[in-house]
Amino acid sequence: MTEREIKKAAMKLSPIDVYNLLPRTNCKECGEPNCMAFAAKLVNREVALESCLPILKEEHEKAYRKLQDMLAPVIKEVIIGTGDHTIKVGGKLVMYRHEFTYHNPVAIALDVTDELPLNSKSPGESLLERVKKIENFSYNYIGRNLTLDMVAIRSTSNNPTTFKTAVENVAKTTKLPLILCALDPNVMEAGLIAVQDRRPLIYAATKDNWKNMAELALMYNCPLVVFAPNDLNLLRSLVKTLTEYGVEDLVLDPGTFVNEGLSDTINNFTMVRRNASKGGDDLFGFPIIGTPITAWLNKKDSKEKIAWKEAYATNLLMSRYADIILMHSLDGWVQLPTIIWRFNIYTDPRKPVSVDAGLFTFGKPNATSPLMLTTNYSLTYFTVESDLKKFGGDYYLVVADTEGLSVESAVAGRYLTAELIAEAVKKSGAAEKIKHKHLIIPGRAARLSGEIEDELKNVGLPDWRVMVGPMDSSGIAKFLEESWPPKKD
Ligand code: SF4
Repeated sequence: MTEREIKKAAMKLSPIDVYNLLPRTNCKECGEPNCMAFAAKLVNREVALESCLPILKEEHEKAYRKLQDMLAPVIKEVIIGTGDHTIKVGGKLVMYRHEFTYHNPVAIALDVTDELPLNSKSPGESLLERVKKIENFSYNYIGRNLTLDMVAIRSTSNNPTTFKTAVENVAKTTKLPLILCALDPNVMEAGLIAVQDRRPLIYAATKDNWKNMAELALMYNCPLVVFAPNDLNLLRSLVKTLTEYGVEDLVLDPGTFVNEGLSDTINNFTMVRRNASKGGDDLFGFPIIGTPITAWLNKKDSKEKIAWKEAYATNLLMSRYADIILMHSLDGWVQLPTIIWRFNIYTDPRKPVSVDAGLFTFGKPNATSPLMLTTNYSLTYFTVESDLKKFGGDYYLVVADTEGLSVESAVAGRYLTAELIAEAVKKSGAAEKIKHKHLIIPGRAARLSGEIEDELKNVGLPDWRVMVGPMDSSGIAKFLEESWPPKKD
């Protein structure tokens, strides 16, 4: 089998193929109950091969190498940064998300230039302020903290000393992985000297400077971007030359044109990824960088229009098949759709986003506070949470594990049954915290109410009453106003 055939077979691996190469001692050193369980997780890329320590022993070297080849992705995984502050890009096994869960979410880099003043009297204008703003940007979306990933330092001065100083200052201010952007190898080397221990991404090798940039990538052990705007033949030829020269960690930039060239851009990104994933072209089997920041080269449009173009180009390229995105706008209205779209693309479609099940409290509930129930689908939970916080007051909330399904779907699919609800209430310990015996269930689970009372008896909670709450959590305040405390039966 050729290396390419091995890689193509990687996504079709069955656990048994992997199991046959493992030591098969069921020693549990990997934290799994047995080798087959580990093999199943390995095939799903949920664990690292190296978690099996016995396979690293000399006698298993041949099997280890074979497994490494079998598990290698069609798109090479490239690591930027060092130690705890690294980011992995690429590493894709497939072209389409429905074929296999995407790994390594798109890394979003925001730029600073080496001509920004270090500190400035105008807020938001200085180098250090902008770096801090990039680093501190975060948005909590259904329980996940979404952030930006990298800082790209662009040399607009084209002066080695100015660039070196800016790189030093950025490196002192943030631990985020870095991209150094300069086409002049002398300027690039000055920057690399300043961050020798940080393994930044070098941007970029072109047909004119590739040899010097390759030398720098090898000397400083850094990944290198290959830039060939709108010319895939040149891009491929540069990759061939650079890999033959010994540079292994490459990132491809086929050019990003946000105006008339947008369809060419999407086409180029798609062709690069298709040729690697479906056509078996190893020379395109590297992560791709998109640079919607080029929208800002247009000086005629208003800032809002440029930022809008940057935002839509970013979102298009994240869908078609960028692994790194370089942007300029830090505006919330540009970044929020971007990071939420990225979150959605990289969420495993087989596993709905969920929160932990259990008993949650709001305010300072006591023995007479209402006890409510919902499911552990993130969107459901955070909608209920937001409504309860908005209303104020003191509540207990039992969150039942429906494997991440909403109330309606869980009831329809029998993931939320009377039995499961009774078990969830019992397990939550809520009964020990309240002196009433009333459980408020969502209106969408109304048809389970009678059955729940029976099941509560079965788990040792006799004489409980189920109250059917509103269809939507926005109606909870009104419901409680009218129905709480419950009348004595
Ligand atoms: S550590 Fe390796 S040999 Fe031991 S159970 Fe896990 S997979 Fe099997």
